[in-house]
Amino acid sequence: MTERLFRAPAEPVVVAIDGPAGSGKSSVSKEVARRRAYGYLDTGAVYRALAWHALAHGADTSDASAVVDALGDFDVRISLDPDDFWVRVGEHDVTGAIREPGVTDAVSGVARIPIVRHTVNGMFRRLTAESARRGVVVEGRDITTVVFPEAPVRVLLTASESVRAARRHGETTGQDAASVAASIARRDASDATVSEFLTGAEGVTVVDSTDLDFDGTVDAVLATIAKEVPHGR
Ligand code: C5P
Repeated sequence: MTERLFRAPAEPVVVAIDGPAGSGKSSVSKEVARRRAYGYLDTGAVYRALAWHALAHGADTSDASAVVDALGDFDVRISLDPDDFWVRVGEHDVTGAIREPGVTDAVSGVARIPIVRHTVNGMFRRLTAESARRGVVVEGRDITTVVFPEAPVRVLLTASESVRAARRHGETTGQDAASVAASIARRDASDATVSEFLTGAEGVTVVDSTDLDFDGTVDAVLATIAKEVPHGR
């Protein structure tokens, strides 16, 4: 009985999900988190918030030292609630602004700086450990390999480039299909120089959503979790 009372609360179960732009990983991860009553951490949103912060300070985001300067006073807060998602930088709610094309085009440059990756990876581990939920779905680029290589569930969500471009076009306003496709291809190429996200590392379950609809993809990820995580966690 005493042992029960004093047992430390368990660390949240980590579900690590990687994938390229337009693979559906944000919406799928959010729904998976809801269905398991887990938290949801959108790591790309933190990189985007840093790009927003650097741009707001007039920094040239292709200049690593200017970005590292902006990192010095980067005060970011992010919600882990899949039903109430927001991102704040200082006093600013940047939830919408970080999806604008200017930020999207700048973010890869910001994310390729090693000290930036090291710093935000520490934030991701801390945010996850501090979550009061039983588990957290963490999605991004090198989550299964660098941030949480020991996570009990590691998934790579892929889809063909044309399907990803079509999906992204459906959710973006004000950009034609060709520029969305070009932006995805550019970002893939740039991101691929810092993290491997098109093939799964050893032990990572690959879920290819090219021929799956949204519900089918969510079910495939939930099935992977059910195999690895004891019932009730
Ligand atoms: O996932 P999302 O498209 O919002 O990510 C935006 C950018 O942030 C990616 O293109 C990539 O450059 C960077 N990123 C990253 N590592 C992560 C998450 C995002 O490099 N874990």
